[in-house]
Amino acid sequence: TTAAPIAQDPIKPSVNVEYTKLFINGQFVDSTSGKTFPTLDPRTGEVIAHVAEGDVEDINRAVVAARNAFDEGPWPKMSAYERSKVLFRIADLIEKHNDEVATLETWDSGKLYQQVATIEIPMIVRILRYYAGWADKIHGLTVPADGPYHVQTLHEPIGVVGQIIPWNFPLLMFAWKIGPALACGNTVVLKTAEQTPLSALYVSKLLQEAGLPEGVLNVISGFGPTAGAALCSHMDVDKLAFTGSTDTGKTIMSLASNSNLKPVTLELGGKSPFIVCEDADVDQAVELAHFALFFNQGQCCCAGSRTYVHESIYDEFVEKAKARALKRTVGDPFESGNEQGPQISSEQFEKVLKYIRSGIESGATLETGGNRLGTRGYYIKPTVFSNVEDDMLIATDEIFGPVQSILKFKDLDEVIRRANATKYGLAAGVFTKNIDTANTFMRALRVGTIWINCFDTFDAAIPFGGYKMSGQGREKGEYSLKQYLQVKAVVTSLKNPAW
Ligand code: ADP
Repeated sequence: TTAAPIAQDPIKPSVNVEYTKLFINGQFVDSTSGKTFPTLDPRTGEVIAHVAEGDVEDINRAVVAARNAFDEGPWPKMSAYERSKVLFRIADLIEKHNDEVATLETWDSGKLYQQVATIEIPMIVRILRYYAGWADKIHGLTVPADGPYHVQTLHEPIGVVGQIIPWNFPLLMFAWKIGPALACGNTVVLKTAEQTPLSALYVSKLLQEAGLPEGVLNVISGFGPTAGAALCSHMDVDKLAFTGSTDTGKTIMSLASNSNLKPVTLELGGKSPFIVCEDADVDQAVELAHFALFFNQGQCCCAGSRTYVHESIYDEFVEKAKARALKRTVGDPFESGNEQGPQISSEQFEKVLKYIRSGIESGATLETGGNRLGTRGYYIKPTVFSNVEDDMLIATDEIFGPVQSILKFKDLDEVIRRANATKYGLAAGVFTKNIDTANTFMRALRVGTIWINCFDTFDAAIPFGGYKMSGQGREKGEYSLKQYLQVKAVVTSLKNPAW
């Protein structure tokens, strides 16, 4: 690993943290309890700011605001074109404040500034514009029914939507969630992840500036078992959408069903195979497999975390994957040129190191990495294991860190069976020049997304979601609108059936 800026002082961010309160009914307010919690800089573990801690009472206040905005307010009733214009204005303002937003995001999460500023924020803007464009294109059907009836369907917003997001892509998840919900005319109470509250609060100010009516979007900082659980259990929340771990997804679903049976969309964990076939260009495959796993410090639900390599190129692949990981530059995420920043928190840092120890203990070969980098912050050396077996924990569990596990395979049927032998089904990558091989994988893998000769290709229009325990429902694209609409059938008796 070449860069070692961990010994230097961390680069000072160029913005001040201005917004730390809860955003309820168009205003920044203290929590009812008056409590706050610290949000930390993953580069050092030091406190960036103290943020108002939302709890049950604050969720109640936010739901009342969202309920009023839905029942009495203009949002669901205003013309779809007006809603669309507000969403376009929000996108414009985020674009205008790209650097401030990206700085807060990097500071709070340790994500690479360069990546956030030049890829993620533009993607967020793109997503909001994509759904702004949908707002006035949502309509029902006329239905041919037996008998003297005129039948039509109305596609109506569901009502008050509760949304809970994780810390690995704080603002991107915010956009995936609010874009379709607002375009369809719902109102929202969104809880950010406790590790990364800052960017969404800054954007809340921009929402207000864009003319989003009061109470349409409320943003609560706080913890899962308190604020999060209160949102899931609330009797006046009509729908939930969650992105996070599979275990928490189970909790969320049971809270929803034990309260008012609100429908739930879930985007959960994964253990995605990345399959390198014998005809692959090894250098290209190594680079793509490296990206598939190490992108965003390995903190991606769809990370290509089981690298299956054909036996005929296995040894060469392992050598080159190791060399690539050794070259990966790790350091301050504000410094351009670095490829990897710190993990999000001490909990995640410890968890990743525990999985690395388990890999060693279970007999996998540690090719490189294996421990922390430096003495401060949550940096981990890019780690590569070879000779990994399917039943080792590093091959079954979601590690969520910079740890690549390389497994060997012999033939197509075998690797399909092994790739599918997991409780997850989020994504898969396939690297081959053979169209028949690609087509076979396309049909055989039980995953919500398959990337062929590419990986992590995201677009506002491409649906994303999981098979099996990786989730239910789809986000992005036209598919996500379905999660935020009710269908009302309207049956009208015809007075003169002849016409
Ligand atoms: P992680 O363990 O990586 O933080 P989680 O899936 O637990 O991942 O967290 C994702 C989001 O879910 C966060 O916003 C978190 O606060 C929230 N969360 C965690 N536990 C619960 C819960 N019991 N009820 C509702 N939300 C929760």
